[in-house]
Amino acid sequence: MAVEKSINSVSEGMDLEIFGGARDRRRERPVLTYREAAREIPVFAETDVLVIGGGPSGTSAAVAAAKLGADVMLVERYNHLGGLSTGGLVIWIDRMTDWSGKQVIAGFARELFDRLPKDAVMGPPKSEWGSKDAAIADYWSYRSAAFQGIVTWSPTIDPEALKTLSMQLVTENKIRLMLHAMAVQPIMEGNVVKGAIFESKEGRHAVLAKVVIDTTGDADMLARAGVGSDSDIDETDIHHCINTAFMLGGVDMERWTEFRRTNSAGFSDFMKRGRDRLKYFEKPFFSWRSDIGLFMGPRLSGYSAVDVEDLTEVELKSRQLAVKHLEIYRAEAPGFENAFLMLGAPQVGVRHSRRFAADRMVTRKQWDEGKVWDDEIGVSTSLSPKWKNISVPYGSLLPAGIEGALGAGRHVACDASSHTFLREVPQCWMTGQAAGVAGALAAGAGVAPRQLDPRAIQRELLRQGAYLSPSIVATTESAADAAE
Ligand SMILES: Cc1cc2nc3c(=O)[nH]c(=O)nc-3n(C[C@H](O)[C@H](O)[C@H](O)COP(=O)(O)OP(=O)(O)OC[C@H]3O[C@@H](n4cnc5c(N)ncnc54)[C@H](O)[C@@H]3O)c2cc1C
Repeated sequence: MAVEKSINSVSEGMDLEIFGGARDRRRERPVLTYREAAREIPVFAETDVLVIGGGPSGTSAAVAAAKLGADVMLVERYNHLGGLSTGGLVIWIDRMTDWSGKQVIAGFARELFDRLPKDAVMGPPKSEWGSKDAAIADYWSYRSAAFQGIVTWSPTIDPEALKTLSMQLVTENKIRLMLHAMAVQPIMEGNVVKGAIFESKEGRHAVLAKVVIDTTGDADMLARAGVGSDSDIDETDIHHCINTAFMLGGVDMERWTEFRRTNSAGFSDFMKRGRDRLKYFEKPFFSWRSDIGLFMGPRLSGYSAVDVEDLTEVELKSRQLAVKHLEIYRAEAPGFENAFLMLGAPQVGVRHSRRFAADRMVTRKQWDEGKVWDDEIGVSTSLSPKWKNISVPYGSLLPAGIEGALGAGRHVACDASSHTFLREVPQCWMTGQAAGVAGALAAGAGVAPRQLDPRAIQRELLRQGAYLSPSIVATTESAADAAE
């Protein structure tokens, strides 16, 4: 098949060898230091709740806090909200239903899907959630919304629609949004976080806050405040991998899916040829439209998400692999003859960097026990129907050893096994919402987040439409009755 030449349809000059092993050829960093002079910097704002990072967890946290009437500032280094769920092209929003089809990640998540335009979402209707009908499950299994023969609420979305809606929510809730601003250092008094310093085109500014919520995904602020973290995910594990996702436009995903479904030998041969050529070779996912294919790989291992040279190398390699994928798919894959490289994600896709140390954490052990934490702030669906839903404690948002701060999102306290699902977008909305509620309650009461009564957080979460385990709902309601 003839392939028209354009900069994105040829990979000449982008030889894998150039990048393979580049880490070994990196220039050594000089063993020198430079003493930065101390200086007075202007205070940009004083606020109740400062949320750092406008990804799924940060947007959710800011909105939840503002709904309680808190004065909220949200700082984001890029030009959009949504983090990896928009800028990272992670537009496959994982399971919000449990294995029975009940929506257990609700609250902010439900509000988003109630408001996203219909044509911005591709997923099964509510009537099919939890269905085990073979034909229905087979159909959705090629469209990211059926696992283990069960239909789940795990749609794909238009990232631009989610960006727009996120900005609407922030504006409506009167959140002070600061884009193009990178938080660089927490402001500490002893072990109490009092705000953060951020850098922008204007230089360096301080923001003072009653409560700071770290939703950077990499626990940047908590790490710099001295909070310990785990980073023990094995390099051979997919959950460790980093890559920059991309989308191919001008494709026919229905034809591609038909090929996959009806010609499994042809599909296997094609994937093998791709792997033989590139080593890292990916298949596309359905996006929210059938003329756009989503590639959330190829996954690269052995890199750190908090090492700037590693991040640079991941970008170079991901770009090279995206261009090579385009070449191969255009030449050989049914439905991809007219494909073009529509977009390389503006944000690098980090699955894991740090998981901060906290008062409590979700562990593999609790999956078997079906434990419900007394300070539960949310419930996640489990990895397979053999486990019950997973209860997430408030203590997993309370960073160890410091006061005045909370953390939510993909760096939340848990073990490596539980991180495989707690890092997903809905779970980040869920922990973000809880952190926002707690931050606003603590700021309003003038107490440290650690001193809050979990019942107060649970009551507000329920008021905001979140889902909690039935036993927690009962306890929360009887505590409220007793207080009346
Ligand atoms: C390749 C890949 C595939 C995935 N697949 C799925 C999937 O299929 N389904 C699913 O549900 N999830 C998936 N995930 C996981 C999910 O996308 C992320 O874990 C989730 O987006 C994390 O949300 P977050 O809010 O914690 O962090 P992020 O989405 O990373 O957002 C953090 C935000 O903080 C900002 N920020 C960071 N540092 C600073 C700073 N110092 N100052 C200011 N702003 C800062 C960033 O710019 C970003 O906007 C995938 C992830 C990857 C990488």
